[in-house]
Amino acid sequence: MKKYDIPFNKPYLSKNEMLYMLEAVKLGHISGDGTFTKKCHQFFEQKYNFKKCLLTTSCTDALEMCAILLDIKQGDEVIAPSYTFVSTVNAFVLRGAKIVFVDSEKNTPNIDVASIENLITSKTKAIIVVHYAGIACDMDEVMQIANKHNLYVVEDAAQAIDSYFITENQKKPLGSIGHLSAFSFHETKNIISGEGGMLVINDEKFIKRAEIIREKGTNRSAFFRGEVDKYGWADVGSSFLPSDIIAGFLYAQLENLEDIQKRRKEIWENYYKGLKILEEQNKILLPKIPHYATNNAHMFYILCKDLMQRSDLIAYLKEKNILSVFHYLSLHSSPYYHEKHDGRDLPLCDKYADTLLRLPFYYELTTTQQNFVIDEIKKFFLQKN
Ligand SMILES: *Cc1c(COP(=O)(O)O)cnc(C)c1O
Repeated sequence: MKKYDIPFNKPYLSKNEMLYMLEAVKLGHISGDGTFTKKCHQFFEQKYNFKKCLLTTSCTDALEMCAILLDIKQGDEVIAPSYTFVSTVNAFVLRGAKIVFVDSEKNTPNIDVASIENLITSKTKAIIVVHYAGIACDMDEVMQIANKHNLYVVEDAAQAIDSYFITENQKKPLGSIGHLSAFSFHETKNIISGEGGMLVINDEKFIKRAEIIREKGTNRSAFFRGEVDKYGWADVGSSFLPSDIIAGFLYAQLENLEDIQKRRKEIWENYYKGLKILEEQNKILLPKIPHYATNNAHMFYILCKDLMQRSDLIAYLKEKNILSVFHYLSLHSSPYYHEKHDGRDLPLCDKYADTLLRLPFYYELTTTQQNFVIDEIKKFFLQKN
């Protein structure tokens, strides 16, 4: 693989990652649910008011747990955006669900909340929302529709750590609003552990069963708390819990969350200010943050005029040794799903698939490097477009 002077992503080691991994080993408990796993659970439950947190080996796994917890069965329908990562919906397809894809909004790649209600049928079980780039969907609207029709809401909060939904009188952390939520600590996210994820349970009735599903279908967690005197096979399940070594790495990151977020927000602002002129000249569009959302600086994207212009810009930046990357391809027209899709056009989703471009974004990106990226993008539009 080619190495770029300015890569797209670079995993950041904050401070105590190695130390805590070693400590986990020294403590003699490196399977799941050890000291560091508990510290991570506590951190999230206290800081973000999540009712119950369970670390998983990935966000994909947390989403698979959601599908099991919601008892998704063959023939059930699940409403979800088409502009998202495959795992958002694959987790539900694995249980036999039909995905009813929704287009994106005009102003953000998020699910178009206004078109959800018309797609609800007697078979609909759940609405899955994705807070793209860490920017909140309109969760008041989503929860209202769900409550009216007795549906569950799952937040795919993979990109949404430390971001909020703003209502009239409060800020609600993303991941604390739906019945269930899933986070990712993949190396491309703000807070990382290589691979890693977390299930958040906000509806209490799912807690007991979630612990069982996560422990291979056994009531092992209750046994270790002394609530039962032996443990056995109680439900379906799998091995969804990460090693405490991973949790040690993650906890070191969480200790530095504020610093990481501060730097990422500076980088985001610098891109925004630097590229604003191109938006004013109608050459590109910049991200829009709705009034009800905060920005957690998960990524910085621009929207090009069309697919050809984006391809040209990617190639131009590659020549300058800068790696920029497009993002999702519409899932409703993917090789796996297009024949199962009900045929509705989702033009805004396709538009984001063709025109959205993500710029290099990582903690250690220096201001000099970043300004070089900004200048090269400006040069591209000055010369050719
Ligand atoms: C990263 C991501 C995932 C998958 O996360 P993993 O931890 O790699 O399984 C799912 N959904 C979205 C929106 C993501 O960005």
